[in-house]
Amino acid sequence: MAVLPEPILNLTAALERLPGVGPKTASRLTFFLLRAPEEVSRQLAEALLALKSATSLCQVCFNITNAGQDVCDICSSSKRNEAIICVVEEPLDVLMLERTGGFQGQYHVLHGVMSPIEGIGPSDLKIRPLMDRVQSGKVKEIILATNPSMEGDATALYLYQQIQPLGLHVTRLARGLPVGGDLEYADQNTLLRALAGRQSMS
Ligand SMILES: [Zn+2]
Repeated sequence: MAVLPEPILNLTAALERLPGVGPKTASRLTFFLLRAPEEVSRQLAEALLALKSATSLCQVCFNITNAGQDVCDICSSSKRNEAIICVVEEPLDVLMLERTGGFQGQYHVLHGVMSPIEGIGPSDLKIRPLMDRVQSGKVKEIILATNPSMEGDATALYLYQQIQPLGLHVTRLARGLPVGGDLEYADQNTLLRALAGRQSMS
């Protein structure tokens, strides 16, 4: 016989799968929701369901966009510089760079990094569509803004080797970022400095 009813165990187990949530926090959240008015749970459940059904990926840069919107606001904006593409690992990185207000080019979201240990190769990432964009003739500079981790560096090097022979200027974010630290944890000033101080890869 279980100590707790199954719905409580199920929610706790589901919450525990979230990044940064351990068993203690998962239990605390579950019991919070159990005590809270039903409206709180309903809003949370509806927001969770809409998260997937009401969003999709931009067919140009693969950032998150509203469902039914093929091209995101950044890609379709006439104010953005089409000649510069900043390549990032995750949609969250776009958000962080946008918050700095210091970048006027476009983005390309890889949706991960190459990782031999996890069996993630170039074909598992949005690299093919990036190469299509690179070869459109409009792009002059590619900023490789993958995280300064082993996988991030390896992915940047791989992309450099693919793109540089095409005659484009390929740069990497300056080393203002803490080594091993993700873009998402860098403050706005650090990100701005890293962007402004980006260096040619060669
Ligand atoms: Zn886009």
